[in-house]
Amino acid sequence: MTGSGSVKFKRAAFLGMGLIGSSLARVMKRDGLVDHIIACARSGETRETALKLGIADSVTDEPKVAVSGADLVLLCTPVGAYQDLIKKISANLYPDTIVTDVGSVKQHVISSIRPYLPEFVHFVPGHPIAGTENSGPAAGFDTLFENRWVVLTPEPETEPAAIKKVASLWRQAGARIEIMDAIHHDKVLAITSHVPHLIAYTIVGTANDLEDQLKGEVVKFAASGFRDFTRIAASDPIMWRDIFLNNQEAVLEMLGRLTEDISVLQRCIRDADGKKMEALFTRTREIRRSVIEAGQHIPPSPKDSY
Ligand code: NAP
Repeated sequence: MTGSGSVKFKRAAFLGMGLIGSSLARVMKRDGLVDHIIACARSGETRETALKLGIADSVTDEPKVAVSGADLVLLCTPVGAYQDLIKKISANLYPDTIVTDVGSVKQHVISSIRPYLPEFVHFVPGHPIAGTENSGPAAGFDTLFENRWVVLTPEPETEPAAIKKVASLWRQAGARIEIMDAIHHDKVLAITSHVPHLIAYTIVGTANDLEDQLKGEVVKFAASGFRDFTRIAASDPIMWRDIFLNNQEAVLEMLGRLTEDISVLQRCIRDADGKKMEALFTRTREIRRSVIEAGQHIPPSPKDSY
């Protein structure tokens, strides 16, 4: 139930009701944070599932219908769909509505939709640093955001009360809040999330190309490390295409750094420089320890979910 000091909305419009949107909708329903949730999605299957799961009170495939009368609008589609959606809804947004999002890239996405957002709405961009490789409304769970960070990247002129409301919503989901500049966010996420996904997509692709030659042994011996890459490389192709298209600069910068570091390791191997390799691997082991100390090592799990 609603805890003291938690937020309450009258009508929340979810544009996109997949893993992330449905997980937040589950929290809002579980804790009574909203009177009515309307979910907007293109496919009948997504809309039916949202109704069946009880995470939406009504559904539509018309974005402008979804946002009419909403005091909270949440963009929860792949980021490449944002501009088109905002163009469709801008004339139907109500004054003082809070518009927020969950997209994994911020700066380019914000500047692409900013011109189409009316001045009278409060725009609070956000990004929950939480997820799994699964997609769609059935994949969500209400504990997904527990003990995870949500980064908010509001513009300097954003009304503090709107930022506070969005932050309270995420806190109610169990998350911790960090306010950050959008450009900085994109750099941090390029190295912590985007480049690791790119590496996973590459390794799994390369292994697949070699599969014929290796006669099925890649899959057979996957437990030796490859398995973890296949999990990451199973992430939604459209979502990740949009992330790389919208965070070009930061990803290319971090890839440049990575390529240099790989060349250093390549040289170590060629020169049989065991000492240098051991020093690096000892340092990286320390980083793993800090991740464990920060409590960010356990993957989210749907157990005990709403
Ligand atoms: P998802 O499970 O694939 O859900 C996407 C939702 O958007 C679905 O309801 C889909 O339904 C709808 N949709 C897709 N394309 C659309 C379009 N062009 N126009 C309108 N609706 C569209 O995706 P997700 O994992 O929840 O990701 C959503 C957002 O969260 C992305 O921006 C992503 O960057 C961000 N994010 C994801 C993760 C993660 O680990 N997955 C973590 C943090 C942030 P229909 O196909 O029926 O339209």
